[in-house]
Amino acid sequence: MAFEGLSEKLSAAFKKLKQKGKLGEKDVKTAMREVRLALLEADVNYKVAKQFVDAVTERAVGAAVFESLTPAQQVIKIVHEELISLMGGEVSRLHIPSKPPCVIMMCGLQGSGKTTHSGKLGKLLKSQGHRPLLVACDVYRPAAIKQLQVVGEQAGVPVFEMGQGDPVEIAKKALGHAKDHGNDIVILDTAGRLHIDEALMAELAAIKAAVGPDEILLVIDSMTGQDAVSVAESFNQLLEITGVVLTKLDGDTRGGAALSVKAVTGKPIKFSGTGEKLDDLEPFYPDRMASRILGMGDVLTFIEKAQTQFDEKQQKAMEEKFRKNKFDLEDMLVQLDQMRNMGSLQQIVSMLPGGIGNKLSGADLDDRQMDQVRAIICSMTPEERAKPKLINPSRKRRIAAGSGTRVEDVNRLLKQFETMSKLMKQFSRPGKRRRMMPFM
Ligand code: GDP
Repeated sequence: MAFEGLSEKLSAAFKKLKQKGKLGEKDVKTAMREVRLALLEADVNYKVAKQFVDAVTERAVGAAVFESLTPAQQVIKIVHEELISLMGGEVSRLHIPSKPPCVIMMCGLQGSGKTTHSGKLGKLLKSQGHRPLLVACDVYRPAAIKQLQVVGEQAGVPVFEMGQGDPVEIAKKALGHAKDHGNDIVILDTAGRLHIDEALMAELAAIKAAVGPDEILLVIDSMTGQDAVSVAESFNQLLEITGVVLTKLDGDTRGGAALSVKAVTGKPIKFSGTGEKLDDLEPFYPDRMASRILGMGDVLTFIEKAQTQFDEKQQKAMEEKFRKNKFDLEDMLVQLDQMRNMGSLQQIVSMLPGGIGNKLSGADLDDRQMDQVRAIICSMTPEERAKPKLINPSRKRRIAAGSGTRVEDVNRLLKQFETMSKLMKQFSRPGKRRRMMPFM
């Protein structure tokens, strides 16, 4: 599977951090040495690997530590963010000008997946309501024209071809054909070679000059790692590409191309190919790719959610209340809502790192109970939430009726709250102070 080796090595580097309570400069540097080796082994360009590790180290050493995260989670978070930025940050979309036809020139070495991806792109754009036209500009191999016709038929996209004529003329004529037939997007499938050669580059430059493409997409095979990146560098120098299509990400790739191409060429990966079928095309999302490379989707989701849902300041205020035994039902409601925003109890537990999720998966985690507690608190007045002792039997009946529960349910909640208050007293004693998420 793609990135498996890299994910494993990164996990191993972070595991060592997890055993530490506090994060020092030495710990970060040791972990980063391993991260750097893992990147190099994954065929990441050595300059890119060095810059990456330097950037992470600088941020990790002396970073303000989020109190809701462990030091290891903190480093994982920084690595994740830096991976995203390495791959271009935001998803990079096609530039389709308002005045048709939009010309997309596909280029790349032979076998990289150019013809397949011309078809995939045609199919995708058609599904988005466009009327694309595929153009056979690879005139050197008769089989290439036939292949494009087969792909076009499968995609339901028309193909323009003029046999083995002059590719520049074919491209120009195709534009006229598109205008006459109402095609708003023209996709040029150009010729490839096994290696970059001058004649090929001159031909591509001539097509570019003749039709002024809106997009020049370079198709590269992710399985070829660093070679793909140097191909991208050369094509970019000679043609000034606008983006990259990274193919064969379904294969056993080490990740080097995905990670280095943006940093080396400055051009974003716009699409990724994930299989031989025409539907196997996806916009390239740097954040999803970073999560995949880290191989810790669940931990990352947890970090992200914990961070957005549990505002640090608010959390401190809650802890303070808890310590001073001032945590009331209103606060409980706030905590419940924060937890609810993170997902169902099962989901939250399944995201907890360190296998806690597995241990608890058999436990009785009933979201309805949580919702019931919420409904009961919501049916109380603000005074009652602050001082539950005020609630007399007639109010209990009203609260039960208001929340669609039974008096027993209200009693159970009040009893639980009382037990919790006793616990709070213990925590408020000196020496017993501990960091904790009050309700959890
Ligand atoms: P071209 O010479 O650049 O036009 O390359 P082709 O489009 O003919 O593709 C070369 C080979 O790679 C074909 O056998 C394709 O089926 C295969 N291929 C293309 N894209 C992908 C992909 O994303 N994943 C996989 N597994 N195979 C692909």
